[in-house]
Amino acid sequence: MRAGVLALQGAFRAHSEMLDALGVETVEVRTPEDLSGVEMLFFPGGESTTMTKLVDSSGLRVPLGERIVAGMAVFATCAGLILLAREVLGGRADQEPLALLDVTVRRNAYGRQRESFEAPLTIAGISGGAFPGVFIRAPVLEETGSAVDVLATQGDHPVLVRSGAIWAATFHPELCGDLRLHQRFLDEVGGN
Ligand code: GLN
Repeated sequence: MRAGVLALQGAFRAHSEMLDALGVETVEVRTPEDLSGVEMLFFPGGESTTMTKLVDSSGLRVPLGERIVAGMAVFATCAGLILLAREVLGGRADQEPLALLDVTVRRNAYGRQRESFEAPLTIAGISGGAFPGVFIRAPVLEETGSAVDVLATQGDHPVLVRSGAIWAATFHPELCGDLRLHQRFLDEVGGN
């Protein structure tokens, strides 16, 4: 199994390190050719405005859409979730998301005081105690479509969702040193 990590911008190496620790071969994806060699794709955190522009300049927008619609498994965190969303609030006027995940997401929604925080999360299907949720200038999911399952919430908001083979988190499981969520995703979608 070869896992791609979308490596246009942001904290993509953190996903590669988690996957290395789990014994999964990773490929950094920057071009349509890179994409054609992977069976699943991780979307990192970072800056969704920049990432969105680079998706267009790299020529990845169309092939990404085709692969994901055809069922490629995707795990997206934070800015990666924003990139996949159907609707982005608080984005730049020219920020056109991929619209592959039926959610409305508001960028930087926790306000200054809580720009970055940690919160223990209860995640459906993950045992062994609370999962450390690391939130960094995190977005808030304001609406989720009927085909979107909520796997974890924090306060009043969903923070981990699944829609078909797309999993998306508003927090950063790749930055907390806890492998359980990456493992669970691989178990479910990767045929591990
Ligand atoms: N606030 C960032 C954005 O809108 C996301 C932050 C993150 O990925 N940690 O793109």
